[in-house]
Amino acid sequence: MAAATTRNWRTQHMTSHHAVILGAGAAGTAAARALAGQEGIKATIVGQTDETPYTRMLIKGVAYGSSSPELIRLPMPQADFIADTAEHVDFESRTVHLASGTTIAYDSLVVATGSQARGLEANVPGAQQAARAGTLVALHSLADAMQLREAILACGRNARVAIYGAGLTASETASALQAQGHEVSLIARSKIPGVATFGRSVAERIAAHHQSRVSTFFGRVISEIHPIPDATVVTLDDGTDLIVDLVIIALGTTPVAPAPWRKGEGVDVDDRLHAHGLEGVYAAGGVAVHHDHHLGTWRIDHWDDGAAQGTHAARMLLHSLDRGEDPGPYRPRSAYMAMIYGRMIAGVGYTGYPDTPIDRSGEEFIVLHEHGDAVVGQVALMQSGRCISGDSASMRPIPRGRHRRRLRRSCQSGPDEDHARVTGDRDVSESPRRHRRRTTSHGGPPACAPSPTRIVVSCSQWVDRLLPPDQRACDGSRDHRRPPSPSMPFSRSPDTGPRPRQTLSKREGVTMPRLSRLTPETAVGASRDLLGELVGRHAHVGDMVSTMAHSPAVLGGYLQLSRSMRRAKLDRKISERISIAVQAQQGCRLCLQSHVAAARSLGISDEGIELAHAGSSADASLAAIIVLGLQVYREPMSITDEQIDNLRAHGYSDREVADVVGIVALNILTGAFNLLAGLTPGNAD
Ligand SMILES: Cc1cc2nc3c(=O)[nH]c(=O)nc-3n(C[C@H](O)[C@H](O)[C@H](O)COP(=O)(O)OP(=O)(O)OC[C@H]3O[C@@H](n4cnc5c(N)ncnc54)[C@H](O)[C@@H]3O)c2cc1C
Repeated sequence: MAAATTRNWRTQHMTSHHAVILGAGAAGTAAARALAGQEGIKATIVGQTDETPYTRMLIKGVAYGSSSPELIRLPMPQADFIADTAEHVDFESRTVHLASGTTIAYDSLVVATGSQARGLEANVPGAQQAARAGTLVALHSLADAMQLREAILACGRNARVAIYGAGLTASETASALQAQGHEVSLIARSKIPGVATFGRSVAERIAAHHQSRVSTFFGRVISEIHPIPDATVVTLDDGTDLIVDLVIIALGTTPVAPAPWRKGEGVDVDDRLHAHGLEGVYAAGGVAVHHDHHLGTWRIDHWDDGAAQGTHAARMLLHSLDRGEDPGPYRPRSAYMAMIYGRMIAGVGYTGYPDTPIDRSGEEFIVLHEHGDAVVGQVALMQSGRCISGDSASMRPIPRGRHRRRLRRSCQSGPDEDHARVTGDRDVSESPRRHRRRTTSHGGPPACAPSPTRIVVSCSQWVDRLLPPDQRACDGSRDHRRPPSPSMPFSRSPDTGPRPRQTLSKREGVTMPRLSRLTPETAVGASRDLLGELVGRHAHVGDMVSTMAHSPAVLGGYLQLSRSMRRAKLDRKISERISIAVQAQQGCRLCLQSHVAAARSLGISDEGIELAHAGSSADASLAAIIVLGLQVYREPMSITDEQIDNLRAHGYSDREVADVVGIVALNILTGAFNLLAGLTPGNAD
């Protein structure tokens, strides 16, 4: 790799600075967004040749849901866009050579080219032939997703699908395909797959859920693939033959960057996202390999973390031009959420280090990931739809010694039968005293279920709080907007904007709302009357409503819309599905939880909820109206005449179709308000 140039580029390029961003994904668009509108800076995004940027994490909806490619198009920030693959970067001349033969000059460079799917071992006989025949596919790009969708549809019946891998994508895919009635065989090299993704304790539980729902072949590798008439035979290393229609490879990712970076190695960066030894070059997202003297070496490939890294890299760039404060070292603040067999799995921080369970009360299970003395990540697995209480005792770093051992003992067993089956653990229920202490420490049991669980807090606060003071990051996202396609309802996105009023409560780790709750006594104007009327009628007003009272206009509008939507013709089972799909994208976990709970109370199955969360349904008419809801939310311009005709053909009246707009509007209002006010399941009713 070329050595860093030594000329003083900073002073030379103060007035007209060209920032080139390679890659139009989570990190690249977030970086461009942070640079947009900065005087004297021109930002150019270089995307792939012939590719319209899309939200990669939503390709699942195209593969096995009913999303169209248009629906997952990624809104582009204000920046020049060139659809031309970057092939080579010349650090001496500060130029990027594109596949078309064009060369562009840069003053600063942000490499955000992401990752590629890790492929099957090259020497597996028959693999290349199966790939050519379209019966062996990865799930990484939009093209992969469309190929997968076609292959499933081509079966004309429930498909027999082998999935190789058992990380997040493999698990979600297995769960969604099983929910749709397909016959799934899950193959993984490890006996307990997913340890690197979720940590051992959560991986064990997920493995147990797989084992109870699909055919599992753990601790096995594929040794051969060969076609037979109308099917494919996958032979495992123990001689087992699986007859399937399709093989999906989901073995994780490796970073990808243009030359001179080597294939699969990514771009090494320091804790401020500078590429090692290259002045003015930054890397962010799935391509960045972080070397941090406190956290060691790590790479995170999640959407929100990619966006947060992109923002951080742009802020570093601006700082280097004296255009802003030093955002400080980047700390992993990844937040992801997935639904696997009706359970919500959520992670924040870096979860590659060993984990310690802190709560295993049956339905909910939470682990901390520690590196040295610091807790650097957290993963939670829980029955979705449960009300989450805000007891934060467990959010503290677990002290060393006797207390930690006691906690560990109390955590290492619990009433989770699936888990016990895999690990051989004994079932020991929590002591009634401990249970009572935990469930009442938030001022009494939560309103909708006495679920003794914990909340996952914003990772930026979480990590900052737990690292030693000299290692704490300043939150590198305070001045930035939410990424364009949020879908991490389980944690506040690092890009959600200013948080000046958000503080940690005395009970360490729980975020406080940004706006206070008002009562009829403290509210003014029309809000006082509205709150008074509600208290008179119901004796109690929820946190969202009492906080909304700051704006009589918003409160009045919300109450009117929510009352009038009770007159909607659309069946509640449909509207709750639409609400789940919208909130899964908007990121309000308070709303998401309440809609999941409502869906459950209406008798919608875990599978139905899970598919709604992915924006789909096994029933074509439900899927069609959920997709309409998502389009109303994201891109009403994309709604077509054919689509409305199709909905009519499914039996929806025009009134029901129009109701969708009201349902989505109500969700936007409540979700956006909760996100703005900082109301989360941990701090609200
Ligand atoms: C099937 C699937 C499901 C997922 N689900 C989730 C989820 O639920 N939650 C979650 O948090 N994460 C999920 N992810 C991961 C998430 O999508 C990635 O972590 C995220 O996209 C990484 O962002 P990035 O900007 O680093 O890379 P990307 O978003 O992949 O963007 C990189 C861009 O660079 C382009 N590019 C690559 N090379 C070049 C080049 N040489 N020149 C120009 N452009 C180039 C690529 O085409 C791409 O558009 C999922 C990923 C997959 C594959």
